[in-house]
Amino acid sequence: MTKIPHRLYLTEDQLPKQWYNLRADMKELPDPMLSPADFKPVREEDLYPIFCKELAHQEMDNETRYVDIPEEIQDFYKMYRPSPLIRAYNLEKALKTPAKIYYKFEGNNTSGSHKLNSAIAQAYYARKQGLTSLTTETGAGQWGTALAEACSYYGIPLTVYMVKCSYEQKPFRKAIIQTFDGEIIPSPSNTTEAGRAILAKDPNTTGSLGCAISEAVEKAVTTEGCRYVLGSVLNQVLLHQSVIGLESKTAMEMLDEYPDIVIGCAGGGSNLGGLIAPFMQDKLTGKADPRIVAVEPASCPSLTRGRYAYDFCDTGKVTPLARMYTLGCGFIPSANHAGGLRYHGMSPILSKLYHDGYMEAVSVEQTKVFEAAVFFAKQETILPAPESAHAIRAAMDEAIKCRENGEAKTILFGLTGTGYFDMNAYSAYLNGSMRDYVPTDEELEKAFQALPKIPGIQ
Ligand SMILES: *Cc1c(COP(=O)(O)O)cnc(C)c1O
Repeated sequence: MTKIPHRLYLTEDQLPKQWYNLRADMKELPDPMLSPADFKPVREEDLYPIFCKELAHQEMDNETRYVDIPEEIQDFYKMYRPSPLIRAYNLEKALKTPAKIYYKFEGNNTSGSHKLNSAIAQAYYARKQGLTSLTTETGAGQWGTALAEACSYYGIPLTVYMVKCSYEQKPFRKAIIQTFDGEIIPSPSNTTEAGRAILAKDPNTTGSLGCAISEAVEKAVTTEGCRYVLGSVLNQVLLHQSVIGLESKTAMEMLDEYPDIVIGCAGGGSNLGGLIAPFMQDKLTGKADPRIVAVEPASCPSLTRGRYAYDFCDTGKVTPLARMYTLGCGFIPSANHAGGLRYHGMSPILSKLYHDGYMEAVSVEQTKVFEAAVFFAKQETILPAPESAHAIRAAMDEAIKCRENGEAKTILFGLTGTGYFDMNAYSAYLNGSMRDYVPTDEELEKAFQALPKIPGIQ
């Protein structure tokens, strides 16, 4: 048998022409979003003031299994896709593992992450509807960058609320977002009521994704022709990100491979939801039974220590209520360096699958994550984003287990992006000043107390 190549790229005509909607194959659907005003299920029309219509439709569509990718988006994808599926020969050798390790690398575009896959789709639908501006939040900055790229492509003005601690840790993110004509505001800010309220309570807050979301949503609903777009958590985002998993599955089929374990980092769940989509389909339909593992930071452990409950998607409590694994929307995680994973909740789709036993989750401490990041960079020549390095850590741990048990498992993990804007974090790790922070049960309990009370439900 010929040796499996280091990097496998699909040809353009092998690229997916449809996204895959995992909800169509779920045995039980996630619980419906509820309006915080009357606790009634949200209808598609209720979302129109926040999202553009087509995206509101995708958000609520639990039936359509395959959704056509508009040709313009397919053409845009071709500028940076397919992303390579890489066999980590050197990593395997360095770990002395009999396991076969594959990773799907999404860092080949300027945003440095998978986020562009959904950003371009959301900007496309906004332009199609004739919207005149968009707002969003960004944690680590990858989403803000991706959306700025997409909005500049379609000539749509964009305001980005960036979580304050990331804004300060990563000054060049501002420059790159401005390169693509995006306006960027550190959050919490005094440009919105939500921001002013949070600042009044805690003027020194380092901010959080949930709080930046409140500001962006407020700006959208108070500005004519403006809508809010979100880079993770939502069903529509997982739909767009299914392109990652669909490409991975095709590539693995060409190699006559199938993963025993699929691993991804989980912030709001979009890359993981996208990567696992077709493998989870096999699991749900009984065709195969891969293990699926979500990896989250020990400082923000929504799946491993959170509650499965209805909660607001943001700190300012302006969004509908979603049933998901949550640490409570008032939970502000410590200033972990993996900004993209500092979110109190988790995709309702992944939350449901986890709750029903289709997925596992582990949490890892950041010094262990950076140890894996540095090891990986030396073996594979890619400097990973701290978020992605969570998946690397778990993949390495599985490969080490294989060595100990003499098992030659096939592992697939998502390498969601590059870490060039995270050099402060790498420096902190390398000079020994990085600390691990794990919230106490008391801290979590306090945030759970603030979960919304819903008559007859929770
Ligand atoms: C945003 C981000 C993540 C986490 O977001 P998900 O929605 O959970 O995928 C992971 N990795 C990178 C590089 C990111 O930019």
